[in-house]
Amino acid sequence: MTSPHARRPIVAANWKMNTGPDDGAELARSVAAQDLPFAQVDVVLCPPATGVAAVAAAVRSTPVAVGAQHVFWEASGAYTGEISVPMLAGLATYAIAGHSERRQLFGETDLDVQRKTLAILSGGLTPIVAVGESLDQRDAGETLGVLRSQVRRVFEALTPAETAACVIAYEPVWAIGTGRNATPEQAQEAIGWIRDIVAATHGQPAANQIRVQYGGSVSPENCEELLSREGIDGALVGGASLDAAKFAAIVRAAAP
Ligand code: PEP
Repeated sequence: MTSPHARRPIVAANWKMNTGPDDGAELARSVAAQDLPFAQVDVVLCPPATGVAAVAAAVRSTPVAVGAQHVFWEASGAYTGEISVPMLAGLATYAIAGHSERRQLFGETDLDVQRKTLAILSGGLTPIVAVGESLDQRDAGETLGVLRSQVRRVFEALTPAETAACVIAYEPVWAIGTGRNATPEQAQEAIGWIRDIVAATHGQPAANQIRVQYGGSVSPENCEELLSREGIDGALVGGASLDAAKFAAIVRAAAP
């Protein structure tokens, strides 16, 4: 029986600072050529900024979508090195906001992530908002509190409808790029908390609608047990997404 809150899974590739236009386009073409359940799963590739146009051209006539890894909230102006949402028009339909590498290495705050999320939405793109606790926070039993404060702060300026249109990526910082994934139980519990927080702040319909992915060392080896769990609506994939066959295995595991 289909759940009354059936959500379409989404698997997104975060290529981080890897690939340029040519090898990025080649990787995108090989992802699009895989046998993937496009009718059931949204598939998104997030190349670095210099590869967005080439990747968008490479997947134009396929169901593969393109996302940006990072945007600034202003539309234009004297912001050297930054990329705005309007600059992605016709190229990308998603953008990540608040990846932990941006929070840790580049000092992004929850308020920055909120501004970016609003800008992404107002440009007609879908935000993928990353949240998650550090290892110290998990060990101190603070995971729920950290998620509550991140989700509240980022989404407090959004309406329930805007919130429902977003994707949240639950990415425990200790699991990103470490080869140490959260257990399916840990991922499911934290994602359940995130949905409860959204229900408390924006109402149950928004909580039922918003898609919440898991991210952190997802691989072909662990994707089945993670993505078969109720409530885990797909994955945000770093390292394994640089290999088309590995990424394809993860996309297939996300199909209901
Ligand atoms: C990520 O970059 O969001 C990520 C989850 O990376 P990895 O899969 O390499 O842990």
